[in-house]
Amino acid sequence: MKIKHVRIHVLKSPLRDPFAFSQGWVAARSATLIEVETDNGIVGWGEAFAQGLEAPEIAAAVIEHSLKPLIIGEDPRDTEILWHRMYNRTRDFGRKGTVLAAISAVDIALWDLVGKHYGVPISQLLGGRFRESVQPYATGFYRLKGAGEEERLSEEALNHFDFGFRAMKVKLGFGLQDDVRVIRAIGRVLEGKNVELMVDTNHAYGRAEALRLGFVLDEYQMRWYEEPVIPEDIEGYVELRSKLKTPIAGGENEHSVYGFSKLTKSRAVDIAQPDIGSCGGISALRHIAALCQAEGIEVNPHVWGSAIAQAASLQVIAALPVCHHSIFAREPILEYDRSSHPFRNDLVENPMQIGPNGRVDIPSGPGLGVSVVRDTIKKFS
Ligand code: CA
Repeated sequence: MKIKHVRIHVLKSPLRDPFAFSQGWVAARSATLIEVETDNGIVGWGEAFAQGLEAPEIAAAVIEHSLKPLIIGEDPRDTEILWHRMYNRTRDFGRKGTVLAAISAVDIALWDLVGKHYGVPISQLLGGRFRESVQPYATGFYRLKGAGEEERLSEEALNHFDFGFRAMKVKLGFGLQDDVRVIRAIGRVLEGKNVELMVDTNHAYGRAEALRLGFVLDEYQMRWYEEPVIPEDIEGYVELRSKLKTPIAGGENEHSVYGFSKLTKSRAVDIAQPDIGSCGGISALRHIAALCQAEGIEVNPHVWGSAIAQAASLQVIAALPVCHHSIFAREPILEYDRSSHPFRNDLVENPMQIGPNGRVDIPSGPGLGVSVVRDTIKKFS
C-alpha cells in the first residue's frame, strides 16, 4: 500500500455576524482539509487547525510544497516514521505554528487511512477506548459589540444550560472591569444550577492583570483558567499557578512533544490542551499524552476546527487515560464550540451532536468514523 495522491482543499465562508475573542474579530470561518489516497483507493482525511484570524492558505502551501513530496510513494502505516521525517525536514523553518498544523493535517489523514485499511476506529489503533462517550462543554460567550455585553452573555449562559450543557467556558480578556462584570453576571444566573465553569482570556493580559482577574476567579470553583498570559511567558504561567487556587490550563498554541516538554518541566500548567490540528496530529498528541501522564499533568485536548478535527479529537479522547486514577476520576471533557460555523455540520454525514443524556457519542466506524460530504467541500472551496 503506497500513498499516491494528496489533495488539498481550502474552505471559507464569511460570517453574517462577525464575533470577537480577545485577539480580534472573526469575520469568516475557514478550514484547510486534505485527503490522502493510496494506490489501492483508500482515502484518509485530515485537517490543519485554522485559528479564527489565520489564512487557511498558509497550511495549504506548506502541505503542497514541503510535506507532499515527503510522503508520496510511502506506506501510510508508517505513521511514526513519516511524522519524524516531516518534523525533521521542516525543523529549520517549522517547529511551531502553521508548519506544525500542516504536519497535523497529514498525520490525521494517515491515521484515518490506516484505520480504514484495518477496519477499526483510530481509538482502537491507539490501544483501545476508555470511554464510548464524552461530556461536552460549551465554548462561547464571544462578543458581538465589545464591552458592556454582560446581560446578553448571561442570557447566553442560560441558553447553553437549556441546551443541556453542564460545563461552559467563558471568553474573557476584554478589559479587567468588563471581565469581572461578565463573570459575576454569569455566576449569578447559574447559581445553584451545578454548572462547571471555565474561563479563557486567549492570553489577553500581562501577569499583573492576569493575577488580579485570577483572584476574582478564585471565588468560584472553576475547572480551569485558560491561557492567562502569552504562551511565550512560561514563567508567568508558573507564577500564576503558585499564587492562584484555580487550575491553570494552556497549550493550544504549543506544539509537539518538544514544545510541551517546556511546559511540563517547569510545571507551567495543571491541564495541557494540545489541539490535534495544530500540535502535530494524532502521533504528536500521543507523545504529548505520554509526557504529561508521566508528569502528572492532565491532558484535555483543545478543538475549534471543522467536523474532521472534531472527529479526530473524539478518537483521541476515547483513548486518553485519566491522569489521576480513582473510582471517581476526572474524565476529559470535549470542547464544543457554539460559535457560528456555516459548513461544519454539513461537512460530514454524521456530524457530532449531543445525545439525550447530554453526552457526545464517540464514532466507532473505521478511521475517524466520519464520511465526508464532497458537495459541501465544492460549495465552500
Ligand atoms: Ca482557548
